[in-house]
Amino acid sequence: MSDGGCLFCRIAKRTVPSDIVGEADGLLAFRDIHPQAPTHLLIIPTEHVPSLADVSGAHTTLLGNAMQFANRLARQYQLGSGYRIVVNSGAQAGQSVWHLHFHLLGGRAFQWPPG
Ligand code: AMP
Repeated sequence: MSDGGCLFCRIAKRTVPSDIVGEADGLLAFRDIHPQAPTHLLIIPTEHVPSLADVSGAHTTLLGNAMQFANRLARQYQLGSGYRIVVNSGAQAGQSVWHLHFHLLGGRAFQWPPG
């Protein structure tokens, strides 16, 4: 299912241009338009899921596939020295696009705790 007003649904349908870097198992990966690291990809399900807070048991396979996809992309982008997966769920966490997405960040050192 998709949401006609959702930016990432439009990216998944290719009606909004993006820099797509891969696709697998109902998932799409593309470059973040405002990268926060030398490698900053977004991994989204092609089906519309508003946020991590909306996932259920029905999404278990999708979530597992997303992590394996991230791992493959990390190898492809030579992030062997370390990478970070971020999910902002909810407004207070900084979620700005209401379609579930995993940030895959790498190519620099990261701080902890995050801001
Ligand atoms: P979040 O704040 O966690 O919801 O992340 C949304 C991300 O989407 C931000 O890092 C934005 O830079 C990114 N973004 C917004 N619009 C686009 C777009 N058209 N193409 C690629 N990335 C985008």
